Amino acid sequence: VTPERVASIEEDDPPAKVKITSRARVVFPESGQTKGDLADYYAEIAPLMLTHLARRPVSLVRCPQGRAKKCFFQKHDSGSFGESVHHVSIAEKTGKKQPYLYVDSAEGLLSCVQMGSIEFHGWGCHEDAVEQPDRMIFDLDPDEGLDFADVKRAARDLQKHLADMGLVSFAMLTGGKGVHVIVPLRRGHDWDTHKDFARRFAEALSAAEPDRFVATMSKAKRKGKIFIDWLRNQRGATAVVPYSARAREGAPVAAPITWAELKDLETAATFTISDAKELVKRAASTGLQGWGFADQPLPEL
Ligand code: ATP
Ligand code: MN
Ligand code: MN
Repeated sequence: VTPERVASIEEDDPPAKVKITSRARVVFPESGQTKGDLADYYAEIAPLMLTHLARRPVSLVRCPQGRAKKCFFQKHDSGSFGESVHHVSIAEKTGKKQPYLYVDSAEGLLSCVQMGSIEFHGWGCHEDAVEQPDRMIFDLDPDEGLDFADVKRAARDLQKHLADMGLVSFAMLTGGKGVHVIVPLRRGHDWDTHKDFARRFAEALSAAEPDRFVATMSKAKRKGKIFIDWLRNQRGATAVVPYSARAREGAPVAAPITWAELKDLETAATFTISDAKELVKRAASTGLQGWGFADQPLPEL
């Protein structure tokens, strides 16, 4: 039997008072980080992460036995998360209403971690207006064999084309293979308009440079190209939230970066859960202050 170290974060010990059990359980076998390490990461990053995550409907990647064992993607409430994890009732395509999850506090975040969650994936809207998207994401997925340099160049190209339309965008390393180009938007348009804009933007890029970009999901057509995954922008789709840990080898995290520093980075898994302090410090730097925020309406395309 593995010895279980039970620890709790004390009430006056900010930011969260959630009892984390099995702190010694190894969650990332390749690099050795435990559930306790993961909880410590999230406790440290919570205030920052919540500026992006709070009140967005969220899906969880839960791996109760660690990342190398069975993981599952949880969209709906199972009734076991406790009081700090909230519900928002959302009608699915079928018309059936389902209880989706959202958190608005470090306690909520840590309660999810206590339940074996590693990753947090958010909708492109907030729970008080689920029919009004407020951020667009272009998820750049390189075909196997492409260099990270190709992804970086693609991200910069998207940034330029978005800027030509007057849109400010931000870059995030996914912690996996790619980069997400994130466009915060003022509310005021519906999901159809949102998705249509994203699709047409991606299709225009792939039409202009068909050797580099593809805008359809088909694996066969992706050979040697970067898939501009615009499907993150339909109602019900999610994308990994800034500062979420990833259930991948080495415990990487989704990390906001500046456009300037993207040039010198060699992998999308540059930061890990061991970098909490550095990530918090970076976020306060001039280049990253305000990252992910801009008050801009979706233009006509
Ligand atoms: P990478 O850079 O390695 O591509 P990523 O986070 O962009 O990392 P993708 O495979 O491109 O990973 O997935 C994009 C998004 O699709 C995820 O961030 C997630 O929100 C969503 N997703 C992933 N798995 C599922 C799933 N099982 N069901 C529904 N949505 C999922
Ligand atoms: Mn991706
Ligand atoms: Mn994708």
